[in-house]
Amino acid sequence: MSAARVPVLGEARRLVVKIGSALVADGASGRVRTAWLDAMAGDIAGLRVRGIEVIAVSSGAIALARRTLGFRGGSRGRLRLEESQAAAAVGQIRLAQAWSEALSAHRLVAAQLLLTLGDTEDRRRYLNARATLATLIKAGAVPVINENDSVATSEIRIGDNDRLAARVAAMMGADQLVLLTDIDGLYTADPRKVGEAAHVPVVPAITPAIVAMAGGAMAGGAIAGEAASGVGGMRTKLAAARIATGAGCAVAIARGTEPAPLRALEAGGPCTWFLAVPEGAQARKRWIAGGLAPLGALVVDAGAVKALRAGGSLLPAGVRAVIGEFGRGDPVVVRGPDGEDFAKGLSAYGAEDARRIAGHRSAEIADILGWRGRDEMVHRDDLALVGALAGASGAGGKVPE
Ligand code: GLU
Repeated sequence: MSAARVPVLGEARRLVVKIGSALVADGASGRVRTAWLDAMAGDIAGLRVRGIEVIAVSSGAIALARRTLGFRGGSRGRLRLEESQAAAAVGQIRLAQAWSEALSAHRLVAAQLLLTLGDTEDRRRYLNARATLATLIKAGAVPVINENDSVATSEIRIGDNDRLAARVAAMMGADQLVLLTDIDGLYTADPRKVGEAAHVPVVPAITPAIVAMAGGAMAGGAIAGEAASGVGGMRTKLAAARIATGAGCAVAIARGTEPAPLRALEAGGPCTWFLAVPEGAQARKRWIAGGLAPLGALVVDAGAVKALRAGGSLLPAGVRAVIGEFGRGDPVVVRGPDGEDFAKGLSAYGAEDARRIAGHRSAEIADILGWRGRDEMVHRDDLALVGALAGASGAGGKVPE
């Protein structure tokens, strides 16, 4: 066992909470569980008062509308893919409205985001989704995210909201992810079948033995195979935990069925904590530093070198020249006046636009390009100092001269 300290809920700076369908929607009636949702909004408000940023990932769209559309489903209540997608189109309106009402009762503003796999994977869209979320959080809103089920085809589907929540947590650099479900964590075997199954309070690393504990019980799949409520089982929760812990985010699996489950967790209620992989938060930077072949170079002045070495972002003002052809979100090296490629990052501008705004103040960007882009050419979250991080995964490609 590792000596790493077990996290405490609420120590986070940024927390993602995933809420399963069965918590939001009453399975029998297909109605919103308003009292539960109100208490959840209260939990979120309580965290927010203490300065903790909260992002909700909420399922429930399909469960809230399948009855309205008269979809009964086949064996074990499963809907056909197109039925799930149609139900999501109706239910998402209800879900968003329910969240909006619940949060506004606590003086919070709900913001709906419907994402697909590409929004968390494709670099350009990733930067976009992240910037929108960051702006919402900064403005005090509570993002409520779901997968864009109605339009997502299998290639662009994440498939279950456990994984979606993990990707959001990784994308937003959250330090804690809470997966609320109908069981208080991981057991050594399926407790409904095996009497002596023991609760596992802490998982320092997701080993094959841990994966075996999750068994095949309620294994998740695409929404085509969705039963009356959510799709995620323990296996998808482990898959989610792997994604998030690998990105430096601790994950709790906890029971959410009783009202105010986050408060219960803070009070020491039972759950399973998956510890963040040490250095996990650096994984993305390592990926940027070593895993991506740069398509161009931004030559910067001495002031920018200093700012970047001190952990800052690269502003257009510090860029002297732009080498190569690359698109928005593509990897580039950052080259000092001495010709040393000392950093790598994802450019918020394509080469053509980057050339036009190089050397200019961020306030001038809108006038030059005719649209208001990001203030930074490379945001510090998308930037890795090569000296500090390279080595582990190689130099990653040849840089245009
Ligand atoms: N996105 C689906 C919904 O809102 C649920 C997916 C899941 O529960 O993992 O109904």
